[in-house]
Amino acid sequence: MKYFWGELTMGQTDPDQKLEGGCACGNVRYRMNSAPMFVNCCHCTWCQRETGTAFALNAMIESDRLELTSGELDVVEIPSDSGKGQKIFRCPDCKIAVWSHYVGAGDKLSFVRVGSLDEAHLVQPDIHIYTSTKQPWVSLSGEVPVVEEYCNPKEHWPEEAQKRYKALKD
Ligand SMILES: [Zn+2]
Ligand SMILES: [Zn+2]
Repeated sequence: MKYFWGELTMGQTDPDQKLEGGCACGNVRYRMNSAPMFVNCCHCTWCQRETGTAFALNAMIESDRLELTSGELDVVEIPSDSGKGQKIFRCPDCKIAVWSHYVGAGDKLSFVRVGSLDEAHLVQPDIHIYTSTKQPWVSLSGEVPVVEEYCNPKEHWPEEAQKRYKALKD
């Protein structure tokens, strides 16, 4: 399970660890009822624009393992690079985004915005994607794989993540 929590985080090897997060005003609170399937650090220009910064950090998890524990969410639909669109879930009051669905992957899969977790440092990227448009000052080195465009799940995802993804599609 080292893929999910990274080897650098001490004492966080439990795949059933339940991480919580929320928006800025405190209205929206949520819980991830298991470890994420896979964590993308995306350097595409779409993510840069949406976040206002250099990349997005998205933890993929089955939507039925993601629980809204307080508040409600507004859904905003925006275009996406794939042309299929993205649904962004935001706090209706402070408008902070907590997760998205990409239409390509469907509503059963959620992309949690890691920065909205209370303990975001526990979730580290499994891969850097779309680094062909990475900002020049972001230097990537170390053990996390780097790909220029989208990754090939069969090659880069751990077997467990592939199984979980497949179970969603069946
Ligand atoms: Zn809020
Ligand atoms: Zn992106």
